[in-house]
Amino acid sequence: MRLSPIRRVSFAGRSFFLKRDDLLHPYLSGNKARKLHFLRQKSNIEEIHSFGSLHSNAMYSLSFLAKERGISFIYYARLDPSLKEPKGNLKAALENGMLLRPLEEWPYGKGISHLIFIDGRLYIPEGGRCPQAQEGIAILAKEILDWAKKNRKTPKIFLPSGTGTTALFLQKYLLFRVYTVPCVGDEEYLRKQWRELDPSAPQPTVLFPPKKYRFGRLYLELFELWRELKEQTGVTFDLLYDPVGFATLLHHDLLDEDLLYIHQGGIMGNETMIERYKAKLDKIAKTKKGAV
Ligand SMILES: *Cc1c(COP(=O)(O)O)cnc(C)c1O
Repeated sequence: MRLSPIRRVSFAGRSFFLKRDDLLHPYLSGNKARKLHFLRQKSNIEEIHSFGSLHSNAMYSLSFLAKERGISFIYYARLDPSLKEPKGNLKAALENGMLLRPLEEWPYGKGISHLIFIDGRLYIPEGGRCPQAQEGIAILAKEILDWAKKNRKTPKIFLPSGTGTTALFLQKYLLFRVYTVPCVGDEEYLRKQWRELDPSAPQPTVLFPPKKYRFGRLYLELFELWRELKEQTGVTFDLLYDPVGFATLLHHDLLDEDLLYIHQGGIMGNETMIERYKAKLDKIAKTKKGAV
C-alpha cells in the first residue's frame, strides 16, 4: 500500500487539512483498503463470505480482493429489483465474479464482530467490522503521526462513521482526539458497536449532526453541499458519508487549520446516488413547471 498524501484545502472560507485516502488505490475504496488490509496477508483462504447491502463499498472491495487472489466471493444480501439493471458497486462486483445468495442463508448472527475461518472459508462481518481491521488502520495512524511530527501539528482528526470501526481503531492508535459523526444509526448505536468490537479501547468523540439524516436517504441540502465541496476544493467526495460529515463540521464550527479530515474514498458508490438525486431534481422541476 502506498502512502496517501495530506493536502491543505479550503471550503466555505476556511482552510483545513485533507488526508487523501481516496487516492490509496485505484479500485479499493480508501476506508476498505485500510480495513481489509489484513486480507492481503492472510493465507489459505479459498472462499470469502460476507453479507450486507447490494450497494455497499465493502461488497465491491471484497469482490476486488477475491478476484485479485483468484478465489470465490460469496455475498449474502436481500435480493431486490436493482439486480435487473446493476449499477455502481453492484455492477462492478458482479463483473468481478461475485456470487449472490439470499440473506437468510448467511450462517451466522448478523451482529457478529469477529472473523470466522472454517475449512478455507472466511466469513467476514458486515462492513469488515472485526478486530483484524485495526492492522490497516494502525498504518493509517502511523502515517498521520509521522505527518504531525514533521509539521509540528497536534491535529483534531475527523471522519464520518458507518460501523465506527475506522474511527475506533484510529483513536486507539492516536493520542490526537478523533471526532466522528454517526451516519448509520445514532450515538447509542455507535457506542454499542465500539463496546462489542474492543471494550477496552478509548472511544472517539461523537458529534451530533445538525439534523437527523437517515442513511442512504436523499437530502437536497446534502447534494448541494457535495457539489459545493467539489467546486471549491476540486475533490470529489462520497455522497453517503462526507456530506453529513461536512454539515456536522460546519454546524459545530470545527473546520479550521487544526482539523485533519480523512477522505475515505467510496466514489464508486456515487453513481447510483447521483442518478437518484437527478431523478428527484427532475421531478421537482416538473412539478414547479406544472404549478406555473
Ligand atoms: C465504509 C465506509 C465508511 C464507514 O466506515 P466504518 O469503519 O464502518 O465507520 C465511511 N466512508 C466510506 C467512503 C466508506 O466506504
